[in-house]
Amino acid sequence: MPDHHAARLALGRPYEVRTLAGFAVGAGDPVAAKAAFTDASVAVSTEVAVGGMHAHGETPSLSLLDVGAPYAPAMPNSEPVRRVAIVMAMEAEAAPLRRAVGAQDLASPGWASALPVRLAGAPAGPSWPELVLAVNGTDPITGIPCIGTTAAALTTHVVLNLPEPPDLVLTVGTCGGWTRAGASIGTTYLAWPHFSCHDRRIDLPGFQAFADGDLPAADLRTHAEALGCELGIVTTGDSLDESPTDHDRIVDNGGVAKEMEAAAVAWVCHLHGVPVGGIKTVTDLVDSAVPTPDQFSANLAAASAALESTTLGLLSRLADAE
Ligand code: SAH
Repeated sequence: MPDHHAARLALGRPYEVRTLAGFAVGAGDPVAAKAAFTDASVAVSTEVAVGGMHAHGETPSLSLLDVGAPYAPAMPNSEPVRRVAIVMAMEAEAAPLRRAVGAQDLASPGWASALPVRLAGAPAGPSWPELVLAVNGTDPITGIPCIGTTAAALTTHVVLNLPEPPDLVLTVGTCGGWTRAGASIGTTYLAWPHFSCHDRRIDLPGFQAFADGDLPAADLRTHAEALGCELGIVTTGDSLDESPTDHDRIVDNGGVAKEMEAAAVAWVCHLHGVPVGGIKTVTDLVDSAVPTPDQFSANLAAASAALESTTLGLLSRLADAE
């Protein structure tokens, strides 16, 4: 088991032991780690070491997932949600939702006027709380939608510095999924238990836990079934393809929704102490023979419509909870 798992456990946060397919087979606090491995009924030998835990033996199908909350607590389901910010990468993904709630363009704050972020607002509606819809916008140099983590972090920081900050941020968009994890085109995931990064590799003492960027998702689990969503780890990197290194990292981090923004949105939200949830709809299957760009283009419109209906469904449930 790679050492960075030990680093995560060294933070002393709750964890789950999961199989490759994402099933939890044990959970607990760091000192109970050995018991959880035993519960897994898998032939492993474990050793609780100072500062963490190392598993020895043939355990390629198990991973330890930190489900603790390092910065901001995950939002309890009962908490009223009065204002929600939705952060999206591409206008094509956002257009159906923008139309559905009748969002009107908002001016960016003066200090953010050089950024491509596009802000819109909608007052509370019959079945949604007050909304800010933020899209990364278009790169002025290439004219291309600003997908990826850099623009997502900037957009999120702008949203969280508006005069009335949101109670909840949702990172909403398309993703790649895996047949091996049970996904099909159109499968929609609610992020849980956390967001992670799969393309940041810093082999220096202590730095890998920062690079992994595992940050908890708001606890929206009670809504998943009604919305027809799966729960799963959203894993972020700055490339559309999956390099062999990314592949290994994702097998290791248990990610089921591969996309390019969520972990950056989550990091900024955690800096601001604002809960962050994720809704991700599969446009492409990473383990399909069909090239990802072809799948993405063919399924973008349908996925964006699914994002609209799932997001509206969640907002309605959050508004009802008040
Ligand atoms: N080439 C596309 C550009 C966007 S694809 C186009 O023709 O318009 C990447 C966007 O969709 C990102 O915002 C990312 O979050 C999401 N995405 C969908 N499938 C993905 C995958 N398999 N890997 C990474 N990001 C993916």
